Formats: sequence, C-alpha cells, structure tokens
Amino acid sequence: MPPIGLEIKIIGDPALRKVARTVSGVGPEDRSLLSRMAQTMYDSSGIGLAAPQVGINKAMIVADIGGGLYKLINPRVTYKQGKQALEEGCLSLPGICVKVKRARRITVQALDEQGEPVTVEAQDLLACVLQHEIDHLRGKLIVDYASFLQKARIKRQIKNLKKAANVCTVNL
Ligand code: ZN
Repeated sequence: MPPIGLEIKIIGDPALRKVARTVSGVGPEDRSLLSRMAQTMYDSSGIGLAAPQVGINKAMIVADIGGGLYKLINPRVTYKQGKQALEEGCLSLPGICVKVKRARRITVQALDEQGEPVTVEAQDLLACVLQHEIDHLRGKLIVDYASFLQKARIKRQIKNLKKAANVCTVNL
C-alpha cells in the first residue's frame, strides 16, 4: 500500500511563511513523513515538495525530476555557480508561474533519511528545484521574486484562486 498523502497548503496559510525547524536526530516518524511527502508530490504531479507545504515545521524536502527520488533533511546550499532563469510553478500557488533567477550549479549538504550526511551536486532543473524547496524552508515563495507589475497580477490571480477554492468546498 502506498503511503498516505498529505494536504498541500495554499498561499495565505501561515505555515508557508514560517522558518522550518532544524531536525536533530532523525527518527522513524521523519522517515514516514518523507515517504508521505514523496507520495503527495507524485500524486500532485510535482517534482519537489517541502515540509512547510504540508503544514509541517521541519527542514525536510523531497525532489524527483525523473532521475530518482531525493529525500533531504536540513538541506543547505554550500556552493553556487552560474545563472539560470526558469519559469517556476509551485504546488502552493496553483496556476501561478514566475520566472526566477537562480544559480545553475549548486552543491547541497544535508542528511539522508538515516541521518547520515549527504552531498548532492545539482545543475539545471534539479538545481532550480532544490533551491526552490530550500527557499520554502525559509518561508520564501516564488511570488517574492516577482516584479512589482507581476505582483499586482498575481494578487488578482490569488483572489480568484481563493474564490475558486471556496466554490469547491461547497460543491456537492
Ligand atoms: Zn513551491
């Protein structure tokens, strides 16, 4: 049986703006959480997900761009090189895309699900995804990178998003 998925928090939820707590001592509940996060990501056709997006205040992320699943605890970028700007979406901001400038190549140090240190060398899309997820751990969202004009447009989109969500909750 696949792990049970989690509910994804949408912009406006305070969980998305908190700084995630560092995990000290990786336990079975952390491993179970990582599996459920991965399941939630796959169920939502996402390529990355951070714990704050499912309302959990822990520094944990999962990512899979098709080359295998990463489950990372307390990830931090220790090296950056080059530049790229990709159109990014976010499971917590459905329907919204923002072009974000990020490093093209990065090194990430983290703990794996056994609590062992791991180093991930990433470039291009994977580097983008990991930087996006690590941003979530600092309460940072792609809208924060938007220009003044884009922000106005996104605000309108978010309003409509909330309207749509309300309609859905009263749908029979
Ligand atoms: Zn996101």
